[in-house]
Amino acid sequence: MSVSEILASKGRDVFTADADMTIQEISNVLATKKIGATVVLDKSGHVCGIASERDLVREIAKSGADALSKPISICMTQKVVSCDKTETIDDLMEKMTKGRFRHLPVISNGKLTGIISIGDVVKRKIEQAEREAEEMKRYIAG
Ligand code: AMP
Repeated sequence: MSVSEILASKGRDVFTADADMTIQEISNVLATKKIGATVVLDKSGHVCGIASERDLVREIAKSGADALSKPISICMTQKVVSCDKTETIDDLMEKMTKGRFRHLPVISNGKLTGIISIGDVVKRKIEQAEREAEEMKRYIAG
């Protein structure tokens, strides 16, 4: 299954944040939207980072409550690894495992067109395994 097919079923909405939003504001976004990471955009709307709950926790562990008023740009990851709509689930699993992260923004023609989380990948992988097991059972029975 490709990234295009995953996006067709889960949707292309991505919650984004501005680099000058505070850690408090980003925490509110993650909590209210029930998401684990947000893509950060610069003033011209280009992807300039990704901020996950781990980045927030690390900053709060370091600076305590003072961290809440600091901009997200101080703790986000600036070198964002993305994927393309033609990549497969196995390609995404390899990138997530290698990079030790759980979120992959989808970039097509330089534009942010979706985001895939490890939950999306695991869901499709389980569905695929169940389909294959069912086909195998039918083959053996028939
Ligand atoms: P996560 O497992 O996605 O919550 O993120 C763990 C760490 O990896 C955090 O420091 C994130 O900022 C970073 N991270 C998450 N997704 C990506 C990505 N696609 N590219 C680069 N870094 C990422």
